[in-house]
Amino acid sequence: MRRAAVLVLLVAVAGGLIATAATRPAKAAPPADKPRVKLAVLVVFDQMRGDFLERWKPLFGPGGFARLLADGAWFKNCYYPYGTTTTGPGHASVLTGTCGDRHGIVNNNWYDRAAAAEAYCAGSTRYKPVPDVPKAAQEEPKPDAKPKPVGNPDRLLSETVADVLKRVHGERAKVFGLSLKDRSAILPTGKRPDGAYWFDGRFGTSTYYADRVHEWVGAFNAGRPADRWLGKEWTRFRPDLDYAKYSGPDDGPGEGKGIQAKDGTKLLWQQGKTFPHPVGKDRLAKPYYDAVATSPFGNDLLLEFAKACVTAEELGKDDVPDLLVVSFSSNDLIGHAWGPDSQEVLDVTLRSDALMAELLGFLDEKVGKGNYVLGMTADHGICPLPEVSAAKGIEAKRVDSKLLHLGAEKHLHAAFGPADQPAPKADAKGDPPKGKTAWVEATSLPWLYLNPRFVKASGRSHAEVARTLADHLAKQDGVARAFTREELAGELPESDVIGRRVRRSFHPDRCGDVYVLLKPYHLFGKVTDTGTAHGTPYDYDRHVPLVVYGPGVPGGPRAEPVTPQAAAAVFARFLGVPAPKDAEFPVPATLEKE
Ligand SMILES: [Zn+2]
Repeated sequence: MRRAAVLVLLVAVAGGLIATAATRPAKAAPPADKPRVKLAVLVVFDQMRGDFLERWKPLFGPGGFARLLADGAWFKNCYYPYGTTTTGPGHASVLTGTCGDRHGIVNNNWYDRAAAAEAYCAGSTRYKPVPDVPKAAQEEPKPDAKPKPVGNPDRLLSETVADVLKRVHGERAKVFGLSLKDRSAILPTGKRPDGAYWFDGRFGTSTYYADRVHEWVGAFNAGRPADRWLGKEWTRFRPDLDYAKYSGPDDGPGEGKGIQAKDGTKLLWQQGKTFPHPVGKDRLAKPYYDAVATSPFGNDLLLEFAKACVTAEELGKDDVPDLLVVSFSSNDLIGHAWGPDSQEVLDVTLRSDALMAELLGFLDEKVGKGNYVLGMTADHGICPLPEVSAAKGIEAKRVDSKLLHLGAEKHLHAAFGPADQPAPKADAKGDPPKGKTAWVEATSLPWLYLNPRFVKASGRSHAEVARTLADHLAKQDGVARAFTREELAGELPESDVIGRRVRRSFHPDRCGDVYVLLKPYHLFGKVTDTGTAHGTPYDYDRHVPLVVYGPGVPGGPRAEPVTPQAAAAVFARFLGVPAPKDAEFPVPATLEKE
């Protein structure tokens, strides 16, 4: 009650400001155009490469992706313009309309020099989980375990469309971000959404947002909807279909085994390389919930949760527009384990199509056709498994990052000393030296962070040491190039498209001293590793779908080159609010005319 009273007062004060805005040119709330919709829905598939929709188009049903692609504007030429194509940056970019060099989310994690610790893009220890983490969803905490970062948007430096909507309409516009992953719910919805919820055995938030979950979230969790797959298996969605014809063999080279549950060293169960994949055998513990997330059931669960949100919050009911961001994470977890050419990724994409049909049908019914805009994109693409690429004759391999790091340390020691110290070597676990007693104080790939004390003691300039390290790294097997921070801060020729992309992921306060770029189709990791990754400036990681379905948008494919960040301007236009301050990509010219 007291909070409501304060808010009413604030609204009254803001109203007063607007009333006198004509005589006061300074900071009034920005003007609102007439909104074109009652609800804007952003659907972000975590890891959906731009070619997937084309590749599997003949297999889609009528009401899902096919409806979006036919009746919405389908931008086939949509590429992220920056280098570090991971989940945090993707989700931070779409509704801010800019890149990591401005919004500051340069990667999922980076090294915080001041704290001498890893920083997480959407979390810190400043806040607590709400409700406190359910016992069933976590292993017994180790006595010496460091406190885990808890979700919040403090590190996001740019406003999102959600912030603008809230500034214009205050409490009357509702904003929700929902995902299995915290960063995907948090980063698109900015500093003051009505709710950001993510999954940890059940859906929760953090004390940044509220001291307790919304009533409908509590009710949703009380039904234990995530527990119903215990003992079940993930089987093929379309048993009638020849999956091998449309993807690859079920036990392709380099594929992973998904989630494994262990008791000490004893393997209890695992999802395995091939169908059917078990989703936990007999215990509601962390591996079970991880397996739910690493299967299409995670997406099913999130869709149910999103529907509960729209219904309970009455999104899209009144004339003040609302914003809902839903990010489906299971595609990413599955893609990492089995790779983009696997039957598992084909299967989750077919199921995503069915899920989209269900979502569109639900919105038609609840909000009404013509009353909502739906934007669909992805936070990044994906690199094929190196083993799959190699089998096709493409130069591809896994590059041992520990060896690379150790080699870098040895090289700097040999070049600059200190001469009275023995040459660096790996510890018993094969880890290179790091921290305050090493040249390379930390790595948070693709960045290496130099130890400033060592640089100073060597009597060399920072630029010289960084250049020496970059030149050494660039010569290593599997490495394409290495950039120094000085290089990225200076001029890069127009022709250096890769360098310019890398620079758009460079924020001087958060990035390291040398950025190491592997050759295309190469991955960091041990040669014995399985699965794949993303995060490079190469097209397979940058290319994502962008589809805008809404009133006044003629359907069909578009050839116009765009970025996913154009969604910020598009959503602002539909919501009738100004684009976010740092948004730099305009509404595509072909949005409203083919
Ligand atoms: Zn990923």
